[in-house]
Amino acid sequence: MVRTHRGWLTPLLDQLPVGARRQAEDYLIQDRLVRRWQRPPQIFAAELRGYRDVYHPHLVGVPDQLKGQCDCNRRGSTCPHLAALALDLDRHPHWYVQTPWDLFLQTREWLAHPPLDWPDPWPWLPEEPLAWQKPYASDLLPHILASLEKGNPRAPLDVTWPIWADLHPSWLTASPIHEAFAAWLAARLPFRHLHVKLWVWLSWAQPDLDLAPVYLAFPESDAGAMVKEALALLFGPALWRDASDARQIALLKVVTWLDPALAAELWPRFPQHGPWVLAAADAYYQAGEQEKAQATLIQSWPEDPVSRRAARHRLIAWLPLADSLPHRLALVIEERSLELLEPVRHLLSRDDWTQLTQQLKEHSQDAPPTDAQE
Ligand SMILES: [Zn+2]
Repeated sequence: MVRTHRGWLTPLLDQLPVGARRQAEDYLIQDRLVRRWQRPPQIFAAELRGYRDVYHPHLVGVPDQLKGQCDCNRRGSTCPHLAALALDLDRHPHWYVQTPWDLFLQTREWLAHPPLDWPDPWPWLPEEPLAWQKPYASDLLPHILASLEKGNPRAPLDVTWPIWADLHPSWLTASPIHEAFAAWLAARLPFRHLHVKLWVWLSWAQPDLDLAPVYLAFPESDAGAMVKEALALLFGPALWRDASDARQIALLKVVTWLDPALAAELWPRFPQHGPWVLAAADAYYQAGEQEKAQATLIQSWPEDPVSRRAARHRLIAWLPLADSLPHRLALVIEERSLELLEPVRHLLSRDDWTQLTQQLKEHSQDAPPTDAQE
């Protein structure tokens, strides 16, 4: 996203000496910056074809400062390759593609324990995306399913994690992939404590995977480390993969399952409209915080009709029969069906019941039934 990078690159660009800047612009005009990568967290790398050799400038963004290095090893003067990278990144941040899971792990390790000398060149990404990074295609399915079977649930570098993390989202609706995920998860649940951070990273990478069974069964002793990792991804400047509503909701749910009290402070900092409110209520409910779940819906009552209807259905399921009556009555009219009223029929007077059925009849004659999907 443009706004993410422009802020912290601007001061560096202002400081560029005129000569380095001119040479950097020449590189860009001549299309010499040929490959671009983004590595987590906030590492941007490129391959630049110089006049004599090929160079690999890297920029590392950390809070309040920006560091860069280049394998031209030009010390004491501004490296024009790095300058070209900074200018290019400022103009086209979206050209810097995200790093796959395994490189993410390597880079975090590198940042945690930076080598004293300039490191060996990091392995460059394969040019060709891996099968699971490509959109759904039935001929790729057998290969992906076979790859998923190669994992070892106990291994710290189980080869199947990157597949789930990098899987193109279009695969997630395919039923063989659904089944494979259920089997994969079941095999790893007994060893879930071995991979405390990986679960959180997986939730961020692939927010549509349902990992609730993992978190809801975590012992309190590990919950703190998971929450810390979730907060780092939610609020840290060094984001691995762009933030999205789905990713933020996924991690807020994780925090809710592990530390509902902290979650109550966090949810209000994010949007308060329908899907967010429903997600918050669901997470509280799953965490066993039933009153908080109900209060969340009632206090931030969704305005859009689809979310509002979904909220009413949740309250009907969660509230005692008598308290659910207003929501049932509202839905009876909206959905034109008396079914929801059957369980509470004894709470209504005969007159009320007759009046309702009459109203419903008139409604169904007035207009065609609403599309359930709306
Ligand atoms: Zn250089």
